[in-house]
Amino acid sequence: MIFDILFIVAILATFIVQAIVHSKYKKYAKVDNMLGLTGEEVAKQILESRGISGINIVPIEGELTDCYDPRKKELRLSRGVFEGKSLSSLGIAAHEVGHACQDAENYGMLKLRNATAGGIMFADKLVIGVIILNLICAFVLSVDISGISLLLVLGYLFFLLFFQLITLPVEFDASKRAETMLYNCGFVVESERNKIKDLLFAAAMTYVAATAVTLMNILRLLRRR
Ligand SMILES: [Zn+2]
Repeated sequence: MIFDILFIVAILATFIVQAIVHSKYKKYAKVDNMLGLTGEEVAKQILESRGISGINIVPIEGELTDCYDPRKKELRLSRGVFEGKSLSSLGIAAHEVGHACQDAENYGMLKLRNATAGGIMFADKLVIGVIILNLICAFVLSVDISGISLLLVLGYLFFLLFFQLITLPVEFDASKRAETMLYNCGFVVESERNKIKDLLFAAAMTYVAATAVTLMNILRLLRRR
């Protein structure tokens, strides 16, 4: 019972943290950086200053959809970040550059996360199949496979938890690199740096909340067993 409650609390915390990230993003999106540079310009200049070449910086649709693709060496920035001159744009663009720097340095945790990501995508589909099969067996064939289904779901959740745990240092490291690079390259002053730090910390907390949801889900299922 206690883990069921904690599971629900963790889910609620995820929604609250996401709302906080959106609110901070909107708040700092109204504050232009002092140099009047766009996210794309800053990303390009930081990459150049770090001696990293061969990275394509491209705009994508959506909000907070920014990501770095290490396989295609592509830094995808949402249009608001790509064209925007706000502190939010700079912070998010620099965070994705942080991932590109990790890739260029062969940062161990990023390599481990990338190696695991394919397995997670496959496991996501597999676990849906297991749940559907369990329902078919229970309600159509009147066969009880709930025991084996629960074990498979638990196996998936442990794998997901591992993936989420190795994602945490990758995300915190990219954010730390972002605020340091922006400050050291002279793109922001101390007060702007603190605002960017505030936004990036909130964004990193979404990963912490998601990890807590998985952990509580595992604990409540183990308790049920
Ligand atoms: Zn990231």
